[in-house]
Amino acid sequence: MMQDKAINIDELVLALISNPRKKTCTKCGIEKSLDEFRNRKEQKSGKHSYCKICEKEYQRKYDALPTTKERQRKYRALPTTKERKRKYNRKYSDLPASKERQRKYSDLPTTKERKRKYNALPTTKERKRKYEALPATKERERKYRALPATKEYRRKYQALPATKEYRRKYKVFQVNNLTDSYIIDRLSLAMKMSYKEAKQLPELSELIEQKRVIIQLKRGIKQLKQKENETS
Ligand SMILES: [Zn+2]
Repeated sequence: MMQDKAINIDELVLALISNPRKKTCTKCGIEKSLDEFRNRKEQKSGKHSYCKICEKEYQRKYDALPTTKERQRKYRALPTTKERKRKYNRKYSDLPASKERQRKYSDLPTTKERKRKYNALPTTKERKRKYEALPATKERERKYRALPATKEYRRKYQALPATKEYRRKYKVFQVNNLTDSYIIDRLSLAMKMSYKEAKQLPELSELIEQKRVIIQLKRGIKQLKQKENETS
């Protein structure tokens, strides 16, 4: 009895030594450790027959097939698929953990850069412009702005020291660089009209150019006078 048990343990040790947990991939033929194969219950060994690298490659090729793409497109377009996705998103995307993950992801420099590039594309800009010009979009915007919660949020946001500081810095930037919006603002004051009205003036770009030159000349004269006063 004891003898049997001892033999079994010996066999086990031997098996462990001679069979380090490895497996040969049926695709690339390389012997790899078991954790380089994904688990698969249906398989007798409990592991995939392809190693992870080969499996990925196989999947990539399969996904790139036109027939696969078309089938996936059709599947995504099914009302049942859309509904399931909607339910799933509603259930999970509002979870604090999901939000935190999303926040971290969107804070990544790579994500920001990709987003910036995407937004700068002419096609993206054009799509955005068209979407914003839709009557339905405008109406939704108007309703949203009129909500008490939105007004309250805006009021609080405007009162933040950081917002005030940003506005101050932006104003300095506008004045120093004579941005179009700054010049339109000056034009509207001179012509006693609202900014919105001034923006719709005929030949606005020429007016802006003229005004810009006038402001630059005035600034130049002012600087000269200051220098004169300093030297005299
Ligand atoms: Zn392989």
